[in-house]
Amino acid sequence: MQWQFDNRFVRELPGDPDSGPHVRQVHGALWSAVTPTPMPAPRLLAHSREMAERLGLDEADVAAPGFVQVFAGNALLPGMAPFAANYGGHQFGAWAGQLGDGRAITLGEVVDAQGERWELQLKGAGATPYSRFADGRAVLRSSVREFVCSEAMHHLGVPTTRALCLVATGEEVVRDMFYDGHPAPEPGAIVCRVAPSFLRFGSFELPYARGDLALLRRLADFCIRRDFPWLQGEGERLYADWFAEVCERTATMVAHWMRVGFVHGVMNTDNMSVLGLTLDYGPFGWVEDFDPDWTPNTTDAHGRRYRFGWQPQVAQWNLARFAQALSPLFADPAPLQAGLQRYVDAFVAADRDNIARKLGLAECRDEDVALMRELYGLLHAGALDMTLFFRALGRCDPLAPSPAPFEAAWYDEARRREAEPALLAWLARYAARLAGDPLAPAARRARMEAANPCYVPRNWLLQEAIDRAEQGDPSGIHVLLEVMRRPYQEQPGREAYARRRPEWARTRPGCSMLSCSS
Ligand code: AMP
Ligand code: MG
Repeated sequence: MQWQFDNRFVRELPGDPDSGPHVRQVHGALWSAVTPTPMPAPRLLAHSREMAERLGLDEADVAAPGFVQVFAGNALLPGMAPFAANYGGHQFGAWAGQLGDGRAITLGEVVDAQGERWELQLKGAGATPYSRFADGRAVLRSSVREFVCSEAMHHLGVPTTRALCLVATGEEVVRDMFYDGHPAPEPGAIVCRVAPSFLRFGSFELPYARGDLALLRRLADFCIRRDFPWLQGEGERLYADWFAEVCERTATMVAHWMRVGFVHGVMNTDNMSVLGLTLDYGPFGWVEDFDPDWTPNTTDAHGRRYRFGWQPQVAQWNLARFAQALSPLFADPAPLQAGLQRYVDAFVAADRDNIARKLGLAECRDEDVALMRELYGLLHAGALDMTLFFRALGRCDPLAPSPAPFEAAWYDEARRREAEPALLAWLARYAARLAGDPLAPAARRARMEAANPCYVPRNWLLQEAIDRAEQGDPSGIHVLLEVMRRPYQEQPGREAYARRRPEWARTRPGCSMLSCSS
């Protein structure tokens, strides 16, 4: 590995003068130097071919014994300068104060052959000053989920942080999986996450909350220069353009989530990337039997703040917290209000684009918004599988609409009997709408198949891979990763990955319910 490190974050921004991992409040600094905790018996379980290639690594580099040592946190490469970032955040609507990287350690910023910057970050590499009451470790199950899902999201075309590799640490980590007083040891693991920047809304909220306006300004200037170098101008105009771009990127990201049926599960402001990347894969899930009120996160089961259908509103609320944190940079709040409006406009436009693409229309007209809303109501009433339904809709013959293509998408016979007549009536209206649309059938189908994935990493698919990995066999991870490389293409022999959730998974932990931090 002959990487060029250019560690701008630690070079250009103030760091914590204190050292060591003891838990503390860190004022006037945006990071603390830390070293990953050595792991006893690391084993490389999986890596992303695309991410490795992007970073200039070949298969021999990944297979070399030094690779697993670096990504287990047992060795540093020359030029690495590990640190944990300091940030705060609003959790479930309330200001939570300082949070920081409690179990993430950035190793350094690599500049690739194309001049692009990638921060390499180990998640689960041991305690930091921000570990608060926890241990800085991660268990295998949550690491498999983050590793596979972030690469799957990339292939689905959803903006996301990436993952280079997954390492089993050989160490046991004790977790009370359901917070019910039954802690048990589980295998530990580390994911190497990769992104141009891991800055979050919460990175800016903390200096704002502490009234440290000099630090806030330094961080904003740094973020614009490093992460948004295409933005020109100066002063308030530049800050306004930057905020507007964050708003627009956030709208794009959330619209993609809604298109593919992804529920983040814990959209706290410390989990909102300034680059509009899906960040911090925890208790996420995929909508199966369609329900806008569904959340996979048991910690949020009561208030359902982060339910599927609410994500666009939550993102807007989070952007308002970000705007508030940036308010000292502006003499007048108008540019921030304009940015928030940009979010609304960009989301509405992206949502209309989703409608056109998911339904296979050349363009989305006003009445199509209503047509889609009715369809979602039907999917909900009929408990239809979101992914299977839209994929099947592309195979529906508008000249002879029939329920046949949707056979595999129903979860419940009684609800099917009730909903099917309304679905047929909807299909007739849809067919009439298609008759007035200029797209030829082949082009329509191609458009739909590029927007409606055939495969998504459903929680129970991940859980099957996890069960095998916990028994020492990581091949389930490899197969799932392979399938998720081409999520829009039917892959012969991989039908088992494009099924509706089997009955056993309906109540199985990890498949239907997940808790916040593991
Ligand atoms: P999350 O909900 O995973 O984004 O985590 C919220 C906060 O808790 C962040 O500051 C994390 O770094 C911290 N955290 C979560 N899990 C752990 C852990 N096992 N050890 C230390 N800190 C953690
Ligand atoms: Mg987080």
